[in-house]
Amino acid sequence: MMMLESQVTTEAQRDADELEKRGVVGVTIVWADNNGIPRSRTVPVDQFGAAVQRGVGVTPLFAVFDSHDGITFEHGPLSTPSGDIRLVPVSDRAVRLAGQPGFGWVPGRLVEADGSPWPYDQRGVLERQVARGAELGLEFRAGYEIEFQLSKSDDEDGDDGGAPRPVFEGPSYGPAKMLAVDGFAEQLLRDLRANGIRVGQFHGEYGPGQFEFNIAPADPVSAADQQLLARQTVHAAARAHGLRVSFAPLVAAGQVGNGWHLHTSVSRKGANLLSGGRGPSGLTADGSAYLAGLLRDLPAVVAVTAPSVCSLERIRPGFWSGAYTFWGVENREASLRLVPSTPLLGAAHANVELKPSDASANPYLALAVVLAAGIAGIEDGLTPPAPVQEDPGQWSEDRRAAHGIHPLPATAAEQAAALLASQRIRAALGEELTGAFLAVRAADAARAADLDTAEVAHAFRWLY
Ligand code: GLU
Ligand code: MG
Repeated sequence: MMMLESQVTTEAQRDADELEKRGVVGVTIVWADNNGIPRSRTVPVDQFGAAVQRGVGVTPLFAVFDSHDGITFEHGPLSTPSGDIRLVPVSDRAVRLAGQPGFGWVPGRLVEADGSPWPYDQRGVLERQVARGAELGLEFRAGYEIEFQLSKSDDEDGDDGGAPRPVFEGPSYGPAKMLAVDGFAEQLLRDLRANGIRVGQFHGEYGPGQFEFNIAPADPVSAADQQLLARQTVHAAARAHGLRVSFAPLVAAGQVGNGWHLHTSVSRKGANLLSGGRGPSGLTADGSAYLAGLLRDLPAVVAVTAPSVCSLERIRPGFWSGAYTFWGVENREASLRLVPSTPLLGAAHANVELKPSDASANPYLALAVVLAAGIAGIEDGLTPPAPVQEDPGQWSEDRRAAHGIHPLPATAAEQAAALLASQRIRAALGEELTGAFLAVRAADAARAADLDTAEVAHAFRWLY
């Protein structure tokens, strides 16, 4: 039933009026599913106030959509086509999209039809971890690095299983690479800023047609919201300049992947626990424990932060994607790279970078499991092993094993086993969401069972 405007609370109506005054005709409410794929509903702006108050109806089966829009019915509680939940815009996060000026964008939360929490709501899972940290006096900052590949949109070769023709063939990191996408780059920086996303830097990356920008750190829920908004912003700028974007973990066989490295830091009373202590590189005891917690649960964490069949093709030794379970100080091959503070950069700069993280992760769940692992490390007072400054991929297996270094899970089945084996990570996701998440992973794995690397890259290339 449509809501009459007079029934809408004044606050919700004010948000809608504000957007309308700025020329917005529709507002797209976005969430990310268990494949890291953004899903959405758009409401005309005059219905936005009603949507804020009551949400819009969607099927609970979005929790069991697989990466290719199949619906798996293998998760008991969501195994029929019946039911309805509400998608509620988080109205204070609404922006007018600079790249699509007729439209507003807003992240959504998923609630039961009666407005109570829905256990499959990924944003809620992250909010719970942030609250848990706060109870312990802990605060977090998080920021994503976004790598992506640009090709010409009229280039169809990406659709026959071959590699898309990169927009630029020439030296990595060179200014000529930026010049090749000049109009796009200019629009992207302008639109990101107008959309409220602060960027640290933007460059032509290593791979063919590959680029990267990093989003300035924010509180975890904002960092996840902004990661979703950033994708929309990149897609719009690319479209406007006749380009096609792939955010996929691996775009073509044999190429470097697109990592979405996740940087986090933890503080207490405003003091960064990764700096100013007596541990290695200035870690405090709690900062060391945070890192050790991440390392302890790394296989289960990565089953959420790099969870797709395509993620597993990206993660390879020697590609700076983090293939083994170890940490290092500024070691770019490490799955956990400590970026320490320096007198030049200040204490706030210190953070831990998680390399095995990509666009196929739900950004809220990814941050939730990272926080959960780190918080548990602090609660348990863990101490990490010594940092490794070499590339253990060059070592013998025996030497790696002697240092407690193992390959991260390399198949969907190994990832599922790692997730099930960590009581802490399962608890962070909750029983229902863990079940749905694993059912989706199994559906994806079954679909990809007979595909080689090139076919997987092709199948996942344009999803994110
Ligand atoms: N492209 C690499 C990856 O797959 C990362 C390269 C870098 O460290 O910037 O994660
Ligand atoms: Mg990079």
